[in-house]
This record gives sequence, C-alpha cells and structure tokens, in this order.
Amino acid sequence: MGARRDRFFFLRLGLILAFGAAAIVGAERYRRAQRPKPAPPDVQRQGLELLDGLLARIGKTDFGQSARGVLLTETLADFLRRGRLVFTAGISAQALYRQELFGSEILYVKVLRMGDRLVHQPPEGIAEGVYHEAVHARQSSYGGSSIEEECDGYAAGLAAGAAATGAKLPDLLTLDGVPVARFVVKAYPGLGRRLGYQPVGESPEWLFRRTGLQ
Ligand SMILES: [Zn+2]
Repeated sequence: MGARRDRFFFLRLGLILAFGAAAIVGAERYRRAQRPKPAPPDVQRQGLELLDGLLARIGKTDFGQSARGVLLTETLADFLRRGRLVFTAGISAQALYRQELFGSEILYVKVLRMGDRLVHQPPEGIAEGVYHEAVHARQSSYGGSSIEEECDGYAAGLAAGAAATGAKLPDLLTLDGVPVARFVVKAYPGLGRRLGYQPVGESPEWLFRRTGLQ
C-alpha cells in the first residue's frame, strides 16, 4: 500500500515538474517571439563599427577614463565581443537591455526608419542609450529597476552623450529642464526606491548630488 502511494507520489511529482517545465519553456518561447527584429546584416555591421569607434573615442575622454566610465565601457565592449549587441528598428527607446531566461543577455540599439531606409542615430544618441543600458546590465543582479538605478542610468547616458560631442555638463544633471531625479520620478510612476543602491563606480552621495535625488 505504502509502495503504491509512493509510486503515485512520484507520478504526481513528475506531472507537476513536467507542467512546470512546459510553462517555463512556453514563457521563454513567448519572450523570444516578442524579440525586436534585427536590422539587416549591412546595417548591423555598420552599427557595430560605429559603436566600436564610439567606445574608443569615449574611452579617451575624462568620463571614459574615470572608474565609472571604464566599467561601463568594458560592459559594452563585452556585449560587442560576445555578439550580444543587436541593432533594430523595433524598439522605441534609444537602446534596451533584455535578460532572457537561462541568463542570455541582449543589448538592443535603435535604428531610425526614414521612409524605406534604416539609418543610425547620431553618435550622441547611441552613446546616451547604450551607457544608460550598460548601467542596467551591470545592476541586473539587484532584480528590477528602481528610481536610483534609473537616475544612475540617465546620469551615465548624459555623461557619455556629452563625452561623444565634447559638451560640458553642469554639476546638477538635468533632463527636459528639470533635475534628473525629478524627471525619473515623473517618467516612471510606481517605480520603487532602493535603499543602499550602489551606483556604478561612484558613491551613493555622488548620485544624490548629481541627480538631485533626495
Ligand atoms: Zn532605464
């Protein structure tokens, strides 16, 4: 009797595991189906060259030589090396970091549609997008994003964009004419705070001061 019950136990357990696995694989298939469509190979090649040159250029600036800049540029160079960087017209943001099940990561970079042609964003736009997403890629072990992480991301994007053009940035970073923190709180309603958040290569005090976070 006991042995039979055990057998049913394992049968039930097997079914539960099988359904669980099917649900996970199903969810992963769904996510893959939602993947933005990559731009054609010539656009990819041109984009990768563009980004490679951009990283080299930013690497020579003050931001690029800072601890923060070095960490973020290395993260992006690593995406390039691993072939996990995809140019696509299928996203609305300048860039998008996605982590898929089983740990595979992709960094999407937006290309613009001009009639029936695809053109790359200006270098400043690419730099802003990819350095922002590099912050998310480095901080992904925290789980979901937070007000702090978005402030970190926008601060990185602004620094990289300015480095790409040679522009100077004010001490208090702004977006749409308001301090970055205020912009983030308004743009991401419902996004939580994260106590003890450690910005990439800088101190929490630095992040608070540069973005107006309180
Ligand atoms: Zn973000």
